[in-house]
Amino acid sequence: MSNDASYDEEIGAQEIVSVEAFHVVWERGGRSAWVRVTTGDGTFGMGEASPMAGGNASLEIVQSAFAPLLMHQNPLDTAVLHNRLFHHHIKLGPDGGALHGALAAIDVALWDLKGKLLNQPVYQLLGGAWRTTLPFYASVGGNAHRSVDEVCRVVEARMRDNPALVKIRFDGDKTERDADLPGDIAKARAVRKLVGDTFPLAFDANNTYSVSGAIRVGRVLEELGYEWFEEPVLPHLPHAFAQVAGKLDIAIAAGEQEYTLRGIKQLIECGVSIVQPDIVKTGGFTGLCEMVALARAYGVELVPHQTQPTIGHVANMHFVCALPHAQARPVEYNVQAPSTQNAVLETPLLSQNGAFTVPSGPGLGLTFTQEELTKRIRPWRGANEIETG
Ligand code: CA
Repeated sequence: MSNDASYDEEIGAQEIVSVEAFHVVWERGGRSAWVRVTTGDGTFGMGEASPMAGGNASLEIVQSAFAPLLMHQNPLDTAVLHNRLFHHHIKLGPDGGALHGALAAIDVALWDLKGKLLNQPVYQLLGGAWRTTLPFYASVGGNAHRSVDEVCRVVEARMRDNPALVKIRFDGDKTERDADLPGDIAKARAVRKLVGDTFPLAFDANNTYSVSGAIRVGRVLEELGYEWFEEPVLPHLPHAFAQVAGKLDIAIAAGEQEYTLRGIKQLIECGVSIVQPDIVKTGGFTGLCEMVALARAYGVELVPHQTQPTIGHVANMHFVCALPHAQARPVEYNVQAPSTQNAVLETPLLSQNGAFTVPSGPGLGLTFTQEELTKRIRPWRGANEIETG
């Protein structure tokens, strides 16, 4: 940082004066774990943590551990702050999800803030957008417990949104192995028949197969022309991934349950050819940028996992549009997410002709309807005790 007095004075007006961690509640019991980082002039950035178990653990880390360290800091120091927060709290991890979800929430908020302070969209600060219209793929979950006909009906409904690809997720019980291989294969065949021979499809086993079960299903997916086979085996068994990848030609995808460079590197070395770290899990823009460099060095694809329909989705789009143009895969979009989340936004996030447009306003480019947002905010416990002095 410059030691120039006028520079420091100017930044002083923009130092961090408040870090808030809270839930935003939606209909039917849904909730998101968000943070808001505000500077002295009232400018604020919004970030989101992974929603696992309500994001409670990440909100607590933000509240009790990160907030005091962030007070009076320069929000433009995104990488310095990320690194400092990580190393101060490394014994909360380093591989666990909650620490990296907390880092993600703060990092996304700081980049949003940085964009607003510099009056630039985040993608511009990342080096520029190759394109700002991004096709999406429909991630259709919950198929383990549906009949073949029900799976087809759900996929048919999602096809009306005109996605670039449909991924069928099974979301079965991770404590079971190979619970219904013939049933899963029948669903894969039925969906292929439904959408026609050439429509792009992907298959997500959500970690429920043995190695031999995964190879059996994978061979059928190859025959049916599926583009990738996601998380065939348990996430923390890299050698099982290697065995499956070694027997199959179809691209193996994984990485949504990895939080560190080390974890992503291990998956790549075990034959995973599409890595899927998630911006709200892996330390935000700062964390994902490191993973992109790693994927590029190994020559594998990085196609982020993403399920959160507002902040997470938009942060992901800023990130993806700044990837080199060789990155041709559509972005993941959980079409079953409650559309009511658009109620807190001045401009709803809606797809058109199977694609989303990346907001071009400063920061993430999201403008919140403050009244609606305030109504839905539930401060994380102890919120009034944030150290601001
Ligand atoms: Ca998945």
